[in-house]
Amino acid sequence: MSCMYCDNTHEKRAELLIEVGKLPHSTLFILKNQNHLGRVVVALDGHRTEVYEMTPEEREGFFADVAAVSKAMSELFHPDKINYGIFGDGVPHVHMHIVPKYKDQLQWGHFFWDKGEVEVTLSDAEYQKMVEDYKRLLNIK
Ligand SMILES: [Zn+2]
Repeated sequence: MSCMYCDNTHEKRAELLIEVGKLPHSTLFILKNQNHLGRVVVALDGHRTEVYEMTPEEREGFFADVAAVSKAMSELFHPDKINYGIFGDGVPHVHMHIVPKYKDQLQWGHFFWDKGEVEVTLSDAEYQKMVEDYKRLLNIK
């Protein structure tokens, strides 16, 4: 079975994600399910299953990308807190969910969770604006 983060023609990838672009050590994606407005995934360049398999340079670079993305998210969406999650049961390629949390909205005070929750989708124009906003703040060409 191919990995959806390594294979950019993967069917599941097209179903779930919109690619924003390349960061120095990773690729940034918007999730089509925007149940937490602004949520993204940062996927490490190169296939690693576990964090301990990453070189010190990869760890430092990946986390620098995560920091840059979360700062852009904060400026764009003004969340009350940002959650960070590495799971990978379903897709075992190191990737971090970066999820803005808003007081009095979905799952405030609890870790984020998709199962059983209503999916929230945006219009094509709204996705496109989000892609452009992240690109602008992160200097992605
Ligand atoms: Zn992979």
